Amino acid sequence: MAAAQGGWWQLLDIRKQAQEEFDFWASQPPMACPLCGEPLRNSPPTDSGSSVELYCPFDGWQYPRDYIRPQRL
Ligand SMILES: [Zn+2]
Repeated sequence: MAAAQGGWWQLLDIRKQAQEEFDFWASQPPMACPLCGEPLRNSPPTDSGSSVELYCPFDGWQYPRDYIRPQRL
């Protein structure tokens, strides 16, 4: 029975860790297009003052314009 001891404290700890990880990733720019999964490209600097940082070459998805920050359920 030794293996069962502390089982649910461990579970709580995992939950907490998962939330912290979620917050970390939610605050990072996305790595891939949420529409097609293509890795996002860095947009070249523009003179027009565009604030586009990342974009998808296939469907034109742009970060941060089209980005919806993931919400914790
Ligand atoms: Zn895409």
